[in-house]
Amino acid sequence: MDTAPGELDVGRAVQAAREALKQPSWRSLSGTERGHLMNRLADLVDEHGETLAAIETLDNGKPLSISRSYDVPHFSEVLRYYAGWADKNQGSVIDIGPKKMAYTVKHPVGVCGQIIPWNYPLDTAAWKLGPALSCGNTIVLKLAEQTPLSMLYVAQLIREAGFPPGVVNIISGRGGEAGAALARHQEVDKISFTGSTVTGKEVMRMAAGTLKAVTLETGGKSPLIVFDDANLEQAVRWAHEGVMANQGQMCTATSRLLVQDGIYDSFVERFKAFTEETSILGDPFDGRTYQGPQISKAHAERIMSYISSARNDGAEVFHPRGDLPSRGFFVPPTILTNVKTNTTAFQEEIFGPVAAIARFKGEEEAVEVSNASRYGLAGAVFTKDLGRAHRVARNLEAGMVWVNSSNDSDTRVPFGGVKESGYGRELGEDGLKGYYSVKAVLVNLTDE
Ligand code: ADP
Repeated sequence: MDTAPGELDVGRAVQAAREALKQPSWRSLSGTERGHLMNRLADLVDEHGETLAAIETLDNGKPLSISRSYDVPHFSEVLRYYAGWADKNQGSVIDIGPKKMAYTVKHPVGVCGQIIPWNYPLDTAAWKLGPALSCGNTIVLKLAEQTPLSMLYVAQLIREAGFPPGVVNIISGRGGEAGAALARHQEVDKISFTGSTVTGKEVMRMAAGTLKAVTLETGGKSPLIVFDDANLEQAVRWAHEGVMANQGQMCTATSRLLVQDGIYDSFVERFKAFTEETSILGDPFDGRTYQGPQISKAHAERIMSYISSARNDGAEVFHPRGDLPSRGFFVPPTILTNVKTNTTAFQEEIFGPVAAIARFKGEEEAVEVSNASRYGLAGAVFTKDLGRAHRVARNLEAGMVWVNSSNDSDTRVPFGGVKESGYGRELGEDGLKGYYSVKAVLVNLTDE
């Protein structure tokens, strides 16, 4: 296992992965045995859970209560889920008449380059490692430069679990150097990337050099539609969670809120009150903290500049009362109301605790405004009308839709986007599809 930044080191990691792919110690393992290794790793992650949660919080700034209750347990849950698939990797027999026979076999894609972001360092790694290992690939995983620590710790656990050398290679390093070297490398068969849309496009261009398989999970500006008949209390809570959790640093944040005329004022009033109530910013190691600092100074400043531009474009800006903590890159939870739907605040991904709210009259308008975006990652709809819920879910241009919730993902359910939010899926059975190739074998059963 390597932990090194430069282009040469990327080459060494790729070489190690290529070599491991040929070795019987990995290649000849049955799916069942691969599953055992993955389960062992999941157990080790749980055993080291407290340490990993503390590292994740230290590195990323998210509240320890969340790292402990969500990020770490989700890592082992994803590994166990895909360990369960490892021995169910079956092909099929296709009946093509009495004189021939055809069957398919699923092969690993090969050496998989995986590039992850800083907002969920452990979990985005698990989403990529899980299906890749389940299918028998080898991996070079590049961590985000802002948050390398938790996965470097997991690197030791991977060794301890008994994975053969070279199967999982973890590298840190800058995106433009280590990430680009990986995306371009001749000996890498597949690139799976999670990050910004701009970088995703660049990765795709580089991967084109050797026609690598590519899966991308990129940006989003997901709508959350609240109809007049919604359970208002429920809508307020989920709307808050959907944009304020994780310091607002979620690609699936439902950051565009569309609220129907009849309840607009009462929704906004309650949303503000709930935001005020939960606005506990500060030390992420303090159990009472809801919101920690943003990932970096530059990122906090970028969010603040989006808030100013919204104000200049005529939006009203609400922040809860109280001062920000004196140390750390904090951004106050922000609610923008009366936002025009063609302005920057409503169209661009802010990646911070900023909700942009606009009003609508009817269902058709809500769907049209929701779809007027270059992104298509997720969407949410709040209504008690079953027919409308399913109709809107069907009509939204998004990879995922929540009905009466938001950002309520599940290991067993595919995750990913359409349009400029990327393609390919992670999690669930669909998450495996990017990690095997199907070989068809045709057998002539005659002497002809
Ligand atoms: P953000 O802007 O949120 O930091 P990025 O998309 O730039 O998101 O980064 C996500 C991941 O992509 C990180 O691991 C980063 O190092 C990597 N990355 C950044 N630029 C490149 C690049 N040109 N080629 C490959 N990977 C990159």
